[in-house]
Amino acid sequence: MAQQAETAGREVLDVAIIGAGPAGLTAALYAARAGLSCAMFEMLSPGGQCAQTEHLENYPGYTRSTSGFELSMDMYDQASSFGAGTISEEVTAVDFTAEPNRLTTPFGTYFAKTVIVATGAKAAQLGLPREEELRGRGVSYCATCDGNFFRDKDVVVVGGGNTAVADVIYLARICRKVYLVHRRDKLRATAIYHQRLAELSNVEMCWDSVAEEFLIEDEARPRVRGLRIRNTKTDEVRDLPVSAVFIAVGMRPNTEFLGGALELDAGGYIVADGTGRTATADVFAAGDVRTKELRQVVTAVADGANCAESAADFLDA
Ligand SMILES: Cc1cc2nc3c(=O)[nH]c(=O)nc-3n(C[C@H](O)[C@H](O)[C@H](O)COP(=O)(O)OP(=O)(O)OC[C@H]3O[C@@H](n4cnc5c(N)ncnc54)[C@H](O)[C@@H]3O)c2cc1C
Repeated sequence: MAQQAETAGREVLDVAIIGAGPAGLTAALYAARAGLSCAMFEMLSPGGQCAQTEHLENYPGYTRSTSGFELSMDMYDQASSFGAGTISEEVTAVDFTAEPNRLTTPFGTYFAKTVIVATGAKAAQLGLPREEELRGRGVSYCATCDGNFFRDKDVVVVGGGNTAVADVIYLARICRKVYLVHRRDKLRATAIYHQRLAELSNVEMCWDSVAEEFLIEDEARPRVRGLRIRNTKTDEVRDLPVSAVFIAVGMRPNTEFLGGALELDAGGYIVADGTGRTATADVFAAGDVRTKELRQVVTAVADGANCAESAADFLDA
């Protein structure tokens, strides 16, 4: 009764989509085309990480590389043209035990029969001075996305887990030389990766080492010309002459606002299957925020479509 009073006169969305990156935009497109009332909650501008990608070369169908921003705006216009709404607010809290589900933002409370969480993830940073400024100017958090821009150049990867080693293996195929800087004397990556790494002749391991400082050229248009590292056992400092620093020290999914409302795996990702279903029947998860192997635009959009379909199935049932 109290809940009925709360929603009286208020719109209850069929589908609330939290996040308007590629996953959320595609979920909105599919939900709106299916005739469901839906809105995307976005705390920044639409497009998410995709909009930050200068050249997107691996999205099928775009034979000339397109900008991630352009692709994002096209996705946004397409979803909007079918009636998907946008609420430019950050969702700061959720209540998935309420019926309908309740979303809180700094500006109000919203209600929805189903919710698709598509809040993405952000790469963990090294925390070095000027790191943010050099992003896209020689500092990258995605080897498969940006590696090709450093073809035949020398680059360095910082990290020691599976992502870092997979990045090294990928980059070794296209770059002249790849350094791997790891703070310990052995990798955390799984055994199969060690073997593959050992077969590469253009990889140099920098064990027991930490990144200390980005070396920068052309202060007018700053970009990376190297990375200063320090050996934690000997204190020896060394400058690696590289054109790019690939940082693979982990991802941080944007799930803090959930406050424990959904099951997360050890890395903080929402546990969901390929259809986006979580353990909560009317809540779905799409894109980088969910448990999966490959976090890319093409997998995010597939997730978005699957989640909208799952939400429609739930509403039908
Ligand atoms: C620099 C860079 C280059 C990349 N290059 C490529 C590439 O070349 N090819 C490729 O396929 N992939 C690339 N990727 C990866 C790709 O961008 C991501 O896999 C994809 O964007 C994931 O989409 P998503 O919708 O799941 O999440 P995101 O793109 O992260 O979008 C999530 C959205 O949710 C919003 N949000 C988060 N929390 C809240 C909240 N509480 N309330 C409201 N809104 C919220 C965010 O503001 C964001 O807009 C790149 C990533 C980066 C960072």
